[in-house]
Amino acid sequence: MSPLVVQKYGGSSVADAKKIKMVAARIVEKKKKGNDVVVVVSAMGKTTDCFVDLAYEVSNNPPDREMDMLMASGEQISMSVMAMAIQDMGYDAISLTGPQAEIITDTAHRRARIVDIKATRVKQELEKGRIVIVAGFQGISGKNEITTLGRGGSDTTAVALACALGADLCEIYTDVPGVFTADPRIVPNARKINEICYEEMLELASMGAKVLQTRSVELASKYGIKIMVGLAHKDVPGTIIKQEDNSMEDVLVRGIAHNFDEVKFTVRHVPDKPGVAADIFSKLADKGVNVDMIIQNIGADGFTDMSFTVSTEDLEKATALSDMIKTEVGAQDVICDEHIAKVSIVGVGMRSHTGVALIVFRTLADKNINIEMISTSEIKISVVVSDDCAEEAVKALHEAFKLGN
Ligand code: ADP
Ligand code: ASP
Ligand code: MG
Repeated sequence: MSPLVVQKYGGSSVADAKKIKMVAARIVEKKKKGNDVVVVVSAMGKTTDCFVDLAYEVSNNPPDREMDMLMASGEQISMSVMAMAIQDMGYDAISLTGPQAEIITDTAHRRARIVDIKATRVKQELEKGRIVIVAGFQGISGKNEITTLGRGGSDTTAVALACALGADLCEIYTDVPGVFTADPRIVPNARKINEICYEEMLELASMGAKVLQTRSVELASKYGIKIMVGLAHKDVPGTIIKQEDNSMEDVLVRGIAHNFDEVKFTVRHVPDKPGVAADIFSKLADKGVNVDMIIQNIGADGFTDMSFTVSTEDLEKATALSDMIKTEVGAQDVICDEHIAKVSIVGVGMRSHTGVALIVFRTLADKNINIEMISTSEIKISVVVSDDCAEEAVKALHEAFKLGN
């Protein structure tokens, strides 16, 4: 049996015909070395963003099912064009959609989770000696509907296929040569991390580091699959994401993530009595709105204020609930602040070192940046700040923890 390679190429790496031909050449190189090759591709360039814009040009409230039908078509373009480019080089290749690769998901349109991958057809095509190109980001639900896996979901398709096919490594190729100590677009002297454990990568991804979709890291961790993140168009060593080892706790802060895609709601002047929080958050949960951070102020005169953040994607749903929350829990007002950002520092070293929070607070205070909310976990500290100082906060913290080159 030949060794199996599972690769994924992101949208910027397949953005035009020239880039597709370059990637095709890299894929063929792997095949020539005697490997079985499965490749997951994202939609070309900004295709998915354009589809979303298009949908909102024709509808104020595009239905999730139709959004999935539209968005899934992007990956179908890149998969077929990639297969053509490979065939043109004299190698046998075939493209398969998510449903053809039997990527079975739940029924949650736009944020579906993979529940099973049979990949029978993928295996059959590999046995015929073909290079298999699979459309990322899409699957088919038990109700025979096309679903998508949430933005950035091709990473998850790739890791899930690696699991299903028994590969122990999944190669994710993108426009940066690895996972950095902060987004290199914001911090020019950010450093490439050679190795990072699942737990840290999971926190960075869920706190906004878009280089990997959170779910892909969850899956890799669950099934013990290593991920390599590297540059699509050049052979340079990337970042390996793997099980934690002893040396990893020596590093206090591994990286910093930021997220502009959250909004803050403040429920003003609610009665300070048992059951109010349960009332508010059950209404949000019933509508499928995920709440991230929550703070409640100290009450006075039997009333209190409560703030929480939700993803920008849920802004409309949460706004629609505001009036109901106001009347049903007897709040004076519900205010929405869209101009916030969350900045998080992450590192397993925080488990065994103290004083990290103090450095964060001092650094931001020295820059005159006001902290609006704070949340912590064993290996993470997140703060919400005004969006116009988020970049400065990331840079200052990066400097304070000496993460740069
Ligand atoms: P792809 O289209 O290949 O999936 P993405 O745009 O989803 O690529 O992810 C790559 C981008 O992630 C980079 O261009 C970079 O700006 C951003 N990014 C954010 N945080 C980090 C980080 N810590 N390390 C590397 N890249 C990051
Ligand atoms: N094309 C999809 C998106 O832009 C999936 C992906 O790129 O991973 O979110
Ligand atoms: Mg991506």
